[in-house]
Amino acid sequence: MSHKIYTEKWAKDVHFSIEYTSHIHHEESPFQTIDFYQSETLGTFFTLDGLMMVNQKDEFSYHDMISHVPMSVNPNIKRVLIIGGGDGGTAREISRYPHVNQIDMVEIDERVVKLSIEYLPQTASKLETDERIHLYFEDGVAFVNQKEDGYYDLVLVDSTDPIGPGEGLFSKQFYDDCFRILTDDGILINQHESPYFDRDKKEMIRAHKKIKELFPIAKVYQFHQPTYPSGHWLFGFASKKLDPIKDHKPDLWEELDLDTRYYNSDIHKAAFALPTYVRKALKNNE
Ligand code: SAM
Repeated sequence: MSHKIYTEKWAKDVHFSIEYTSHIHHEESPFQTIDFYQSETLGTFFTLDGLMMVNQKDEFSYHDMISHVPMSVNPNIKRVLIIGGGDGGTAREISRYPHVNQIDMVEIDERVVKLSIEYLPQTASKLETDERIHLYFEDGVAFVNQKEDGYYDLVLVDSTDPIGPGEGLFSKQFYDDCFRILTDDGILINQHESPYFDRDKKEMIRAHKKIKELFPIAKVYQFHQPTYPSGHWLFGFASKKLDPIKDHKPDLWEELDLDTRYYNSDIHKAAFALPTYVRKALKNNE
């Protein structure tokens, strides 16, 4: 079987390549270039503007860690807002909680959702079957700006990087609005980039600086995401009063008996233990 190569740049002189067996789909949506591929090792994967987004082999790490960390801190989360998340993986994980009664997913690009439903049912399957999931095909920045105060218990920013349509999701205005539409127990989880390559490190610092100026509690946690630049990836945990470690409720979470592949109560704690160089960068904004 002839193998062609998909390559993306992780830095100006660092490339990441995957042999693929078929290029399933290509299109220019109104927002970005969308490509779906088939690979022996990673299964089906898709890229946006030439950057890896999701693949069958390691999507569980990201979707576990964006979802179960906040859900095991506040056991009373009922209304959840997902910004981005077009592949459906985050919505799939949140829908596993019976006490959640509303999952609003604001994805700017309807084509990502439609193509994920067609080619990546592993992540997108719940989008058409769970009546708690409401899809809004619009810009997340505008959506949060018009939302009423104190509406959501949890906001998950499952976005692309801060270039292109995702740029506004790293702005102060956006974080201001997220703070406003969250309840007093509200938690914001955002895609927080990575400390490794300079460009990603700069974005990590920029996002964290804005968030810690707004939220009384602003922490960062790490996880392994092998197919993202360097494999060392971060989420931000910001809240008005709940602390991800002090208010962590492992016993309550474990009673739900959710079978997760990456997340567990030990890794919940460990994920917030950051390497010294990362701690310093976040503390000193440099
Ligand atoms: N969840 C995946 C993962 O495992 O990392 C990747 C993230 S998901 C594909 C990123 C989504 O954010 C894309 O579908 C993109 O269309 C969406 N997006 C980018 N900018 C947006 C915006 N301003 N408002 C809403 N969605 C946006």
